[in-house]
Amino acid sequence: MLPGPVLEPDEKIHEIILRLVCTAPLGPIPVLKRPPGVLDPFFIGGGNEDLLCGNCDLLIALHVEREQLPRIVFQCPQCGYLNDTE
Ligand SMILES: [Zn+2]
Repeated sequence: MLPGPVLEPDEKIHEIILRLVCTAPLGPIPVLKRPPGVLDPFFIGGGNEDLLCGNCDLLIALHVEREQLPRIVFQCPQCGYLNDTE
């Protein structure tokens, strides 16, 4: 029996370093924060991108699709920097 072609979806995870901003942008853009000491990702989804803090590389969101996220600013719970998804 011949091995057939193996069809694998592209499940490679891309790591995306978020852009740091000094202050929260103006406008109706949510700023998400965590209580001190809680370092879990803000989101866990079914996509193939991981979003990392631009300062300390903490995992901010796991397995998401950045294209499908609205613009959000995440305050990194580890270093306190603001990370913009845009
Ligand atoms: Zn950080």
